[in-house]
Amino acid sequence: MIGFSEVRAGQQCLLRAYKVGRDVPIAPLSALDGRVGTPGPTSMRPESDPLADVRALARPLFAGAESAQGDAARTRALMDAGCPRIVDAVVEADGLRVRVDVLERTARGRWIAVLIRNGVRVSWSLADRAAFTLHVLRAAGHHVAAVHAMLLDETYERPDAGPVDPHRLFVRRSVSFAAGRRRLLRIAASVAATRAALASPDRPAIAPGAHCRDSRDGCPFLDDCTAHLPADWTGWFPRKDKPPIREWLAQGFVRMAAVPVEGRQLPRGAEHARLASRAGGQYVAPTLAAALAPAGPPAYYLDFECVSPAVPLYAGTRPYAVVPFLWSVHHDDAAGNLTHVDDLAPPSTDPPLRRMAEGLIAALGPSSGEPIVVYSSYEWERLRDLAQALPDLAEPLQAIQARLVDLLEVVREHVYDLRFRGSFSIKAVAPALAPEVTYDGLGIRDGLAAAHAYEAVLRGLDRVHPGGVAPGPDRRAQVLADLRAYCARDTLAMVALHRALLRLRHA
Ligand code: SF4
Repeated sequence: MIGFSEVRAGQQCLLRAYKVGRDVPIAPLSALDGRVGTPGPTSMRPESDPLADVRALARPLFAGAESAQGDAARTRALMDAGCPRIVDAVVEADGLRVRVDVLERTARGRWIAVLIRNGVRVSWSLADRAAFTLHVLRAAGHHVAAVHAMLLDETYERPDAGPVDPHRLFVRRSVSFAAGRRRLLRIAASVAATRAALASPDRPAIAPGAHCRDSRDGCPFLDDCTAHLPADWTGWFPRKDKPPIREWLAQGFVRMAAVPVEGRQLPRGAEHARLASRAGGQYVAPTLAAALAPAGPPAYYLDFECVSPAVPLYAGTRPYAVVPFLWSVHHDDAAGNLTHVDDLAPPSTDPPLRRMAEGLIAALGPSSGEPIVVYSSYEWERLRDLAQALPDLAEPLQAIQARLVDLLEVVREHVYDLRFRGSFSIKAVAPALAPEVTYDGLGIRDGLAAAHAYEAVLRGLDRVHPGGVAPGPDRRAQVLADLRAYCARDTLAMVALHRALLRLRHA
């Protein structure tokens, strides 16, 4: 049976669909590779399934419905019996299979398919899912009146730690328009192509190309498919400002150094990558020293960890509100002394904004003008949010913002190493420039896993939440220790990266 995940994979690449459909095991990624969305060895993600939680929360909205229990035959029997409302339905037809959260029968005997999602708006992916649902239902011979989506209402604010009111949390929207004729034709074509690929005895002969990095989460088979390619493969060009990677590959320019540049000004990152390829591995702009000048040392190094739960867990927050729960600060005094402080908010239903802000202001030396090194604009945005939420602390928080130096911008504008493989994520950059940086031995190895881990602990406190997970005291203590260790490693990685850049400056 072909499901939406195979069809979606096939829209990116039929080889991916083949691998997904034939259940080829995904090679584990290296511990530091955060480029693709494979969960990797972190242990926290299975504890948090936002969509399952959201589905459970929506269930009271369909009280009295018959459950098909995820079984296609039972779904068909309930539909044939004229059941007015069916939850956990599965429809199969023509070798296709689709899960439908709710099927509602209209007065005229047609069906409304309801998809419960954990997003706040109708995304491209949801529109495709709606079209696939419609396609399968029609293939099964059902008359479909509409496809609806139950989404989270982004204006919903959880009033307190009490039960979430599903009538206020969810908003129901028609997505029939999104699954219009053109999209249906496109889905039908994707279904046909995916079906042919899966039926073939041979793997689709598809070479890695620009499409491998097209989807939001990349492709889980990227390492496998590109293992034989050189480090300066043209497909690894940084994609910022859209260099014509597809065009170059189509013209047969496999290595970065060979791409034609006459009469064309490349985006800065792509140009640096091309120069790194010509130099055999690395390019360092002569302007690096000037770019590093504001960063010290002496300097502080700051990193936040945050949760952003689909269903608000904290009183006074909305779906996907970003709430910091942990910060780590290293300090390099430029005399060889490195010190570290951090603060992890005890799990609670009150957002720890004041605690986070006050602790950070004290830790970063309010009277110090020393630079605070960060990696990306994420910390600046969290400080902005804290300043907005806590007007009495806005001034010192804005003073901290003014001291931030973004090492990501320094790297992006001045350095390229072929081991970045097109990514400027710290998980790609730090190990390339500072090989002593490792996340080995940590229970949590990336920010998403950290957020999920803390969310699972929060849910343990949130007894009223149907998806609640009670990790137990030992488990909880281990998770909290893992979180602190991970965040500290991130700021330590920044220290090591900064020192490596300073060495490059002198090279
Ligand atoms: S890495 Fe590229 S070629 Fe390989 S399966 Fe994924 S999208 Fe297809």
